[in-house]
Amino acid sequence: MLPVIALVGRPNVGKSTLFNRLTRSRDALVHDMPGVTRDRKYGDGKLGEKPFIVIDTGGITGGEEGIDHEMARQSLQAIEEADVVLFLVDGRAGLNPSDEMIADHLRRSNKEAHLIVNKTDGVDPDVAMADFHTLGLGEPIAIAAAHNRGVRLLVEYVLGGY
Ligand code: GDP
Ligand code: MG
Repeated sequence: MLPVIALVGRPNVGKSTLFNRLTRSRDALVHDMPGVTRDRKYGDGKLGEKPFIVIDTGGITGGEEGIDHEMARQSLQAIEEADVVLFLVDGRAGLNPSDEMIADHLRRSNKEAHLIVNKTDGVDPDVAMADFHTLGLGEPIAIAAAHNRGVRLLVEYVLGGY
């Protein structure tokens, strides 16, 4: 069984950008698992030494209704299926109430979760990271998915034990 990495976080933090980096695709190699909605995308991890599966999700905002509710349900399902959860936040936007809601859920689940601060390009990394320590998920890891910065190191780090 390949290790499964789930990408979760509120919408617009860069999950799909990271997904495409990890699968080395724009979208071409993204495939939907039979029987699941397209809000949960599975891809073959193609970065680093070890093969893995990566799941992209639509996002969680908290207090969801309608389509947002389905998106959140898919995200929670992805967390269930994952061996490792990468919880993405936006280093430019700073801490958001949705981030706290997701962190709460992850702290209560017994999943291995890593806090990933994305969009750290062009910002002071110490300032960008400072806010997120309060989420109680350990030391945040800085990346800039759009610039492929920190991505390979991240994969090697989280798959170290697999
Ligand atoms: P998702 O909703 O979490 O899947 O987020 P997307 O991957 O669709 O990205 C949302 C927006 O953030 C897009 O405009 C991306 O180009 C932008 N973005 C993603 N990663 C980075 C990054 O590392 N730096 C910056 N500056 N923008 C980014
Ligand atoms: Mg997306």
